[in-house]
Amino acid sequence: MSFELALVLALSLFAPTRAANNSPKPPEPTTLAAAVDIYRWFHAHPELSGQEVQTARKLAAELRGIGLEVHEGIGGHGLVAVLASGRDGPVILYRADMDALPVDEKTGLDYASQTNGVMHACGHDVHMATAVGALKVLATMRDAWRGTVMFVGQPAEEQGLGSHAMLKDPRFTELLRRIGRPMLAVALHDTADLPAGKVSLHEGYVNANVDTVDVIIHGKGGHGARPHETVDPIVIGSEIVMALQTIVSRRLGPEERGVITVGKFEAGTTHNVIPPRAALFLTVRSYGDATRSMLLGEIRHLATEIAKAHRVPRAPTITVKEPFTPAAFNDPTWTNRLREVFVRELGAGNVEEHFPSMGGEDFGRFSTELKIPGVMWRLGAVSPSRYARSQGKDLPGLHSDGWAPDAEPTIRTGIRTVVAAILDVLAPSGS
Ligand SMILES: [Zn+2]
Ligand SMILES: [Zn+2]
Repeated sequence: MSFELALVLALSLFAPTRAANNSPKPPEPTTLAAAVDIYRWFHAHPELSGQEVQTARKLAAELRGIGLEVHEGIGGHGLVAVLASGRDGPVILYRADMDALPVDEKTGLDYASQTNGVMHACGHDVHMATAVGALKVLATMRDAWRGTVMFVGQPAEEQGLGSHAMLKDPRFTELLRRIGRPMLAVALHDTADLPAGKVSLHEGYVNANVDTVDVIIHGKGGHGARPHETVDPIVIGSEIVMALQTIVSRRLGPEERGVITVGKFEAGTTHNVIPPRAALFLTVRSYGDATRSMLLGEIRHLATEIAKAHRVPRAPTITVKEPFTPAAFNDPTWTNRLREVFVRELGAGNVEEHFPSMGGEDFGRFSTELKIPGVMWRLGAVSPSRYARSQGKDLPGLHSDGWAPDAEPTIRTGIRTVVAAILDVLAPSGS
């Protein structure tokens, strides 16, 4: 990129939208270009959940380079970076996730993954690059805000384990004790549903509780031609699979949302042998504790009673994996406040509403465990011209091998929203 172009982009990073007393100063001319370079590095060097060694090292180095105090190796490869204004004030927790996926990249980009079978297909590379850019901008204008930004670089999001591991690490607790409990947790996630330049928010639940459930049916094996001498776990398992479909349709109130999916049914070895066991592997999605316990209770009830009706030698073994991923809830008051901030920053036409997802996102755990409000917004990442041509349809989505965010406008909007949000939350008193 030419210097002139970088200068224009950097100067246009912030529209003059805020009150004079904490208006963003123009960032360093190369801030956006540097963030895009960092994005390309992360994109080319993806690492799977729990293996984010180089990623964390690179992110830590970038953050130290802009003057943050960085603590590494928290909850695995997690890091916490502290940006202090030097003045008393609230603490805001800002999270970006770091892991990639076992996907074989097919984008054809010149900065495509250099690791076979691993790809930043969920855009966590965008999140990290945005964070470096936004924190750099905030670091250069400390007189415009007060308090502290507690940045969290989180590993293992795709497994729903990283926030749990960080929160139970005593070093994280010690940092919280020293810095102070955050008043708000924020994060963004890129989306294939919006063009770059736009963001979307939704108040209330935005991501679901994710439970992983194993149901092992214990039958009695035998000859395929002598079924009457067996207790066939495949037949019992099939009946359970069908009965599970009635939980959401007949037990859950129509105003509630839930999903029970049997993603794997494992049983048997060959045509003429009735196996002694069958196993069902489920993902269960819900919002709220009451719905969650109802769905899990009904799964247990139906599986146990159906197996019993078929005279199994012993009750099915039902395991609900711990830790589950808790739902992410966007605090309505804070969501509305940030919506207003983004409307001022980007214009009303660039701030949309999105439908809540039944997907998982373990960012929600920072809110639930620290008992603080949280807001996650979505960052449009599709090239605007491509989005217009396709009318938003049939584009590669997140987790696909063709996911290729339009880096520059996406990261620019990411930086603008993060900086605007943090400046608003940490505005000096009286502003
Ligand atoms: Zn993902
Ligand atoms: Zn993700």
